[in-house]
Amino acid sequence: MYGRKIHLFTIVGFNVSIDFTWLLLAVLVTWSLARGLFPAWFGNYSMATYWWMGVAGALGLFLSVVFHEFCHSIVARRFGLPIKGITLFIFGGVAEMEHEPQNARTELLMAIAGPLSSVVLGFFFLLVYALGTIIRWPEPVGGVLWYLGWLNLVLAAFNLLPAFPLDGGRVLRSILWFAKGNLRWATRVASTVGSGFGVFLIVIGLLHFINGWVITGIWYSLIGMFIRGAALMSYRQVLVRNALSGETVAHFMQPDPITVPPSVSIRDLVDNYFYKYHYKMFPVSEDGALTGCITSNEVKNIPREQWSTLHVQDVLVPCSIDTTISPDTDAMRALSLINKTGRSRLMVVDGDRLVGVITLKDMLKFLDLKIDLEGA
Ligand SMILES: [Zn+2]
Repeated sequence: MYGRKIHLFTIVGFNVSIDFTWLLLAVLVTWSLARGLFPAWFGNYSMATYWWMGVAGALGLFLSVVFHEFCHSIVARRFGLPIKGITLFIFGGVAEMEHEPQNARTELLMAIAGPLSSVVLGFFFLLVYALGTIIRWPEPVGGVLWYLGWLNLVLAAFNLLPAFPLDGGRVLRSILWFAKGNLRWATRVASTVGSGFGVFLIVIGLLHFINGWVITGIWYSLIGMFIRGAALMSYRQVLVRNALSGETVAHFMQPDPITVPPSVSIRDLVDNYFYKYHYKMFPVSEDGALTGCITSNEVKNIPREQWSTLHVQDVLVPCSIDTTISPDTDAMRALSLINKTGRSRLMVVDGDRLVGVITLKDMLKFLDLKIDLEGA
């Protein structure tokens, strides 16, 4: 879901980043404030003034969303849930949680912290705006404060919609979870509501589109698609987490993987390993000890005429933490490493000995089977 991120700053241990899509939102917001909302609501000012108001408004939106996510994160940390960082993207922000909350109460408090903070911030801006009008601040300054006040209240209201994974959906899930004590069922109901709400927004978007409100229609549809996708994905994540919890890498690995001796020529490696087994990466090992890795990347940079004279030991690369994992690691961790690095298999290493390989395919097969036998 998240593409390339730009890291901006770190605040009390939380990394604040923006996704590239956020830049698009920043431009759109600045433009629609400077050319639409501010000229319509506030006096006769120069173009430059409206552009400055637009930039201030977009910056205020950024800070408001960071503040909202920050409050989620502070509560999460208070309950011992590690938050990797806060990322802003086109539809808002997200605090990246590594684990699900342990109980319904924690989830409720964490979920409510964001909208509550937005309400407080919204009233704060409106209060400063009111004070500003009494002491006669310049109207453009007041205009931006007024906008930020309402923006935060709208932000709170939108997030409180009971559509998982929005905050309101999390509140709904925590109540269901508390009532029945079943997280999987609660997630299923909450994400069904979330996905239904997504479809509703898509339909609204299409109706706008048909009636000539093209941009509005596109926005509704995009937000609808995003909410629907996120709802379905969150449910799948809970299923996967449930199925994998308590399992180690050793459970899924294939022992005795195919290894390449370091003395083999590149020609031999291509013909008898790459073309025979169709893997992109092979562990290189001598007498059971792992000496490195060889991947198709190293090989494709070697000119063909050197394939017979060069050997694997001349071009192998050290195995990195991205390609190796220990057998007693949690299987969920292996899955997220595979997801993060985009590699289809990891080498299972105990000390300096290679004990097996773990592939995405084997883990998915197990998940399918478990969900099939024990029901979703
Ligand atoms: Zn939130």
